[in-house]
Amino acid sequence: VSFGYENVTPQEKTRRVGEVFSSVASKYDIMNDAMSIGMHRGWKDRFVKRVKPRPGEQILDMAGGTGDIAFRMADRGADITVADINQDMLDVGAERAMDRPASDETGSLVFTCQNAEEISFASSSFDAYTIVFGIRNVTFKDKALAEAYRVLRPGGRFYCMEFSTTEWSGFKEIYDVYSDKLLPRMGQAIAGDADSYRYLVESIRKFPTMPEFESMIRAAGFTNTKVEPILGGAVAIHSGWKI
Ligand code: SAM
Repeated sequence: VSFGYENVTPQEKTRRVGEVFSSVASKYDIMNDAMSIGMHRGWKDRFVKRVKPRPGEQILDMAGGTGDIAFRMADRGADITVADINQDMLDVGAERAMDRPASDETGSLVFTCQNAEEISFASSSFDAYTIVFGIRNVTFKDKALAEAYRVLRPGGRFYCMEFSTTEWSGFKEIYDVYSDKLLPRMGQAIAGDADSYRYLVESIRKFPTMPEFESMIRAAGFTNTKVEPILGGAVAIHSGWKI
């Protein structure tokens, strides 16, 4: 099945991605639980453990959507700027933020509409940059990586979690059937939208392999890059440092 978004102009691709997330925004959190049978919560906990947010740090959570990563990092005392290109996703995130219990130790949360390819913040503004299940939706990934590098201060760290390609052969076949058959049906049943979930499957398949993506991160200027595969690489955490 092809959503066909690679055969259109960059502007059209960005517009279609916008439509996908506006369409799923209100059902986004429930769909994540259903699609990953709750596993995304564990992946996100693991990711934030790797980032090690500290009280008082300034962290940019790009493509932060409805706030899952931002909330976990704010709970560790870091001040989080949640940036996303889609206002509908940010609105759900801001609503969730208001419903959350906060203590004196909880870091601040600011929501801002931004394109990862062209961030409005000054250079060297952040201690860390995170992007989770976001970069595969960005039209020009190299531009987004260059911008991540620019807004980080020297000594700042970059962490990205994204769907990648599993290298476990048996699991690969099951995952393919799940992606082609089950996922769009679940999208239809829960969010009333099979096409958006077909797009998600296609964007995962088109995403660079783990070593390819690691070299893109290096090309943007990051050093000490690392990859941590989860489920054989079905999900991967990439990281790097701006020295
Ligand atoms: N990080 C959140 C999480 O893990 O739950 C949300 C991930 S959601 C799958 C992907 C997000 O990327 C959407 O909210 C979408 O609007 C955002 N996005 C897509 N293209 C973007 C871009 N060019 N700049 C910023 N955000 C973008």
